[in-house]
Amino acid sequence: MKITKKQAKERISFLREEIKQHNKNYYVDNKPVITDFEYDVLLDELKFLENKFPEFFCEDSPTLTIGSDLQFVNNSDNLKVIEHKYPMLSLSNTYDKGSLYSFNERIIKEVGVDFKYVCELKIDGVAISLSYKDGKLVRALTRGDGVKGEDVTNNVLTISGFPRELPKYSTVKDFEIRGEIFMSFSVFDAINKVREINNESLFANPRNAASGSLKLLDSSKVKERSLNVFFYSVLDHDNSFTNHSESLFWMREMGFSVWDGFTICNNINEVIDFLDKWDISRKTLDFPTDGVVIKVDNYILQKQLGFTSKSPKWATAYKFKADQVSTKLISIDYQVGRTGAVTPVANLEPVTLSGSEVKRASLHNKDQMDLLDIRLGDYVFVEKGGEIIPKIVGVDYQKRDYSCSIPIFPNYCPDCGTALVKDDDESKHYCPNIVGCPTQIKSRLLHFASKKCMNILIGEATIEEMFSLGLLKDISDFYYLNKDNLSLVSRWKELSINNFLNSVEESKKKEFNSVLFALGIRHIGEVAAKNIANHFISIDNIINSSIEEIVMVDDVGEIMARSLRDFLDNKDNIELINRLKEAGLSFSINSVNNRSNILSGESYVITGVFDISREDLKSLIESHSGKVTSSVSSKCSAVIAGQSPGESKILKANNLNIPILSKEDLFNKIKING
Ligand code: NAD
Repeated sequence: MKITKKQAKERISFLREEIKQHNKNYYVDNKPVITDFEYDVLLDELKFLENKFPEFFCEDSPTLTIGSDLQFVNNSDNLKVIEHKYPMLSLSNTYDKGSLYSFNERIIKEVGVDFKYVCELKIDGVAISLSYKDGKLVRALTRGDGVKGEDVTNNVLTISGFPRELPKYSTVKDFEIRGEIFMSFSVFDAINKVREINNESLFANPRNAASGSLKLLDSSKVKERSLNVFFYSVLDHDNSFTNHSESLFWMREMGFSVWDGFTICNNINEVIDFLDKWDISRKTLDFPTDGVVIKVDNYILQKQLGFTSKSPKWATAYKFKADQVSTKLISIDYQVGRTGAVTPVANLEPVTLSGSEVKRASLHNKDQMDLLDIRLGDYVFVEKGGEIIPKIVGVDYQKRDYSCSIPIFPNYCPDCGTALVKDDDESKHYCPNIVGCPTQIKSRLLHFASKKCMNILIGEATIEEMFSLGLLKDISDFYYLNKDNLSLVSRWKELSINNFLNSVEESKKKEFNSVLFALGIRHIGEVAAKNIANHFISIDNIINSSIEEIVMVDDVGEIMARSLRDFLDNKDNIELINRLKEAGLSFSINSVNNRSNILSGESYVITGVFDISREDLKSLIESHSGKVTSSVSSKCSAVIAGQSPGESKILKANNLNIPILSKEDLFNKIKING
């Protein structure tokens, strides 16, 4: 199908926004909502369109950058961020053996036929990099954004599987070693059982559990999670090894835990044999693996092949297709989400899939139900690609009998009874009762209060209770509560009340883009909210803008623009905004930052940890017309350094005579009080 330039622009911006949101779900919240396969399909489509329409190039497109949790980190309560000596990259991947032959051909073209591959299982956990100096472990960092990661040394020390100090005879003493920290299926199941008993939310999969556990601030809690590690690469400052396989044997000899099934393959056919074998045998393993990593063995050839901005060209990952099982569909619940979208969720006869029990699965929307022609009582095929929320991918029609009945998709909201609506170009049905539907209100309250939005200290159960008590009817009510009415909340004593009220007060300092995101407007994610806020500067400008003007904003397409317009055309929402304005929330960049051109033509590098988030610091510089870049060069105006700044950045700045400023110096320059 031919696609016009306009359609391509729209689709590219939609895909970028969508993928950034999935990155956030996956890397930051540890709660992916689509499978890895679905994610990779979106990314491939974006790559294809960007190649075809290079005029829409954007250097921070997800096709060129590594999925990171750092950009969203609020530094004040997190781990120290430190620069990696060598970048930690991603891997290109494929689900298709044909592409592996093309990968092989590209390599042969570049380096000839005289080389070997090493095949290893791709462990599905979280990447870690350990630094050793003089044979002793000095630090453990997460991958972060690939350039810098978070210091999790204390937590990593609770894990066995690596020496804290190398045997004296080792000649390799100064190096970084990379591996994957993971949670075994048995530990994962045991932890989830306990969480279920304690009424805590369950981990979706071992990867998310490992990733969430590694970043806990209390190491004794990390120890309880019984994490494991496998190492797969060493970066030795003295280049002691000639081959990757040689380094794997060395790691093992030194006491590093290495998956011992790695295999040297003489050609691509042997690689395919390895994949076929492990696609079956992996099901017997107690640790999660999502594929095979294929690496050129020889280091000189690896160097010759080089890297893209995102991944090495001498390696690729072959991802296994998702596991499938068949089970009986018992009933379907219709769940209303924050934006009013109604999602059918299947209740299934419990079945084990990829090492854990599955009882519920998503059916996405009515179109999907119709497409599957699904009946209550059917045997259905369930998939858990990337091990996230399982979904129904097919129906075993052979097993259908007379007792199976057609499910009725509701015409009315299962919660408030309002007639559902569906736009032609959207797949979901929505409850339009934004103001009155209890489930939507409660989810919006939760979203508004969440850490990534206004960071108000309140949990789901308390929101539920305050809603039933009539204390919270909409998000503006957070700002009109007092000690008297809060004393009605069960289990809340003076301390919780004070903490809550302080966090409400603190939330008034949140910038306009966070407030815009916190409003919970359908299709307007965190990135879009930021772009829109920066573009329009104030809510009044947005209220007065047309759809055509809104789509001019970077990465904002027509669907988002229409949704934003619909929201602002609703007079209840305008009243809500007015109440929030009266409460003191920031509805313009001006009100917080004194937008100006004072930093025009200047460029800054930010390094270290601050008492405001880096994102806020970056927007502050940008709102005064300055630029933020990631590396120090002679073109830099200054380096803004917080606590524990990146050593190499400071060194480089000193060498180039570039001033190093504190956050306060910057604030003085732009004349605001920090
Ligand atoms: P990746 O997980 O596909 O591959 C790179 C990582 O593999 C490395 O960082 C390393 O940690 C790990 N690894 C495990 N075993 C290894 C071995 N033996 N040798 C080398 N590396 C090994 O890359 P990524 O950048 O972390 O994630 C991108 C992928 O994550 C996407 O392609 C997608 O499949 C998935 N993802 C899914 C969602 C979602 O919403 N489902 C969102 C974002 C990313």
